[in-house]
Amino acid sequence: ETVDFVGFFYQIVERFEMHKSEHISFEAKTIEGPIWVWMDKDKITQVMDNIISNAIKYSPEGGTIRLDVSKKRKEQKLYIRISDEGMGIPKENIGKIFDRFYRVDKARSRKLGGTGLGLAIAREMIEAHGGNIWVDSKEGKGTTIHFTLPLMNQQRRSLS
Ligand code: ATP
Ligand code: MG
Repeated sequence: ETVDFVGFFYQIVERFEMHKSEHISFEAKTIEGPIWVWMDKDKITQVMDNIISNAIKYSPEGGTIRLDVSKKRKEQKLYIRISDEGMGIPKENIGKIFDRFYRVDKARSRKLGGTGLGLAIAREMIEAHGGNIWVDSKEGKGTTIHFTLPLMNQQRRSLS
């Protein structure tokens, strides 16, 4: 379906704002909407939920989670970034976090719960939408998940 990503994004951020604990803050930034994207709303909701839940799960007390939507004009893509100030991911493990059932620190992860499927599913869904997803992270500093989604082109917009 055709979705205004900016409105969609605000709904998700608001839902997390309502339920988050007091010692984490959100900072959301976006370009002006509407920005039309052809996507499966439920699936992209699941992707956003997975990434934001991870950011919360691995954030320290007083941490800020930054969410940012912008456009990569040259590539006709929407560019979304979600970063936290958590413990980060060791360099040697970064390549594996999109693998099914992969979790960095077994002991730590068991305590925090989860199956290690969240990011594997996120990657599948983003790629099925013609986008890309990647991570950059510094141990002790934080993690950023980046992903793109193709924008609906001019022609398609005028047809629908
Ligand atoms: P699930 O999502 O199934 O509940 P999970 O969160 O452990 O379980 P993924 O979301 O796939 O699984 O993440 C895989 C692993 O990558 C996590 O177990 C964690 O070790 C690491 N990871 C993911 N996001 C972050 C983050 N924001 N900060 C630090 N480590 C992260
Ligand atoms: Mg997860």
